[in-house]
Amino acid sequence: MMQIQNTIHQKIQVTLEFPVHFTQNLFAENNKTFEQCVSFKEPKKQHKVLFFIDENVSSTHPDLIDSIKTYCQKCGSINLVSNPIVVPGGEVVKNNTSIVESIHKYTDKFKICRHSFAVVIGGGAVLDMVGFACATPHRGVRLIRIPTTVLSQNDSAMGVKNAINAFNKKNFLGTFCAPYAVINDREFLKTLCFRDWISGISEAIKVALIKDKPFFEFIQKHTDLLVNRDIIAMEKLIFRCAEIHLQHIRCSGDAFELGYSRPLDFGHWAAHKLESLSAYNIRHGEAVAVGIAIDSYYAEKKGFINKVQLQDILQVLHSLRFPLYYKEMQDPDFINGLEEFREHLGGILCITLPVGIGKKIEVNEIEHDMIFEAIDYLRENYNGNGQ
Ligand code: NAD
Repeated sequence: MMQIQNTIHQKIQVTLEFPVHFTQNLFAENNKTFEQCVSFKEPKKQHKVLFFIDENVSSTHPDLIDSIKTYCQKCGSINLVSNPIVVPGGEVVKNNTSIVESIHKYTDKFKICRHSFAVVIGGGAVLDMVGFACATPHRGVRLIRIPTTVLSQNDSAMGVKNAINAFNKKNFLGTFCAPYAVINDREFLKTLCFRDWISGISEAIKVALIKDKPFFEFIQKHTDLLVNRDIIAMEKLIFRCAEIHLQHIRCSGDAFELGYSRPLDFGHWAAHKLESLSAYNIRHGEAVAVGIAIDSYYAEKKGFINKVQLQDILQVLHSLRFPLYYKEMQDPDFINGLEEFREHLGGILCITLPVGIGKKIEVNEIEHDMIFEAIDYLRENYNGNGQ
């Protein structure tokens, strides 16, 4: 008699591949990056394209919308289906599901299919929100990300995640979804306010501390130039930081974060909690700087880094004008950030800490008293750079 099998083992391997371009003046007539990006797989076809733009990018680049329209009109391969749609900028855009819904309506109205393109130009918050919205119509439309802040150019646009906030929790609703392409144009950075120019540097310090000592030394050496808005120093910082993020996501073997280990989230348990406790008045990058300071203090107490290394870390953050103390850190709810972080990732708590400069360790327990001590230390010694 034939035996009936009761299990069929299914295994599907999917390769995710996308280019990350670095350019200047993306929509200048002679810049072919965008056109090639849209048409390289199907050069003979006319491609439907719908743009979403961060309101603070469109207001600080008043010629941008006209340049996009002119550029697309001159490209035979692009069918610009609508005037670019301006969406609110900053974290507020992730706190409002009605904006996601409006993106869905536009994709329906302009018949954006899986082979059409949505293009998002903006900071990390707008990229996250539009990415989340575009991951669902038809189970995902092609998305080209054009990040316009330091943080989005060196970190958030490089990954395969998107999200909005819900139930007063950071990134509660989201998907894993790779972009079709990413295009970094350094010219956008010139209109950032000082806070947003600086805040994304914390993500570079984060990866440098756990992965790349020479990169940390580069940042240490260039704090003055960075504070003084030197575009070349910033361009180098962004490139290296983006490269490390891309390499980690490609090589970690866990692009969709199914395991416990999450090195790129070093400093983030405190950061996410601080952001929500401040009603998102503290920028993500600013909150990450505080998270790095707290967890580095903890790492020193545990003997993973020495006192000189701790002072080097705090000094770099301080020299870059990061506030390292906020009153929200005294909120009794602050420490619950650890449990919320565990819950968001699922499974057991896994906190990444630096070992020396450039290496890391993961710990599964955090002593709360030492975190309170870190907060007291930062209040007493680094209460100066406040907003
Ligand atoms: P942001 O998007 O809030 O932008 C900061 C401010 O700058 C906003 O007011 C924005 O409108 C404005 N802005 C953007 N570009 C500008 C420009 N060129 N000129 C002038 N103003 C401009 O902040 P951010 O630091 O870019 O991104 C933070 C967000 O990214 C957070 O929501 C964070 O959770 C998310 N993030 C996501 C990932 C991921 O993997 N998906 C990773 C890291 C961070």
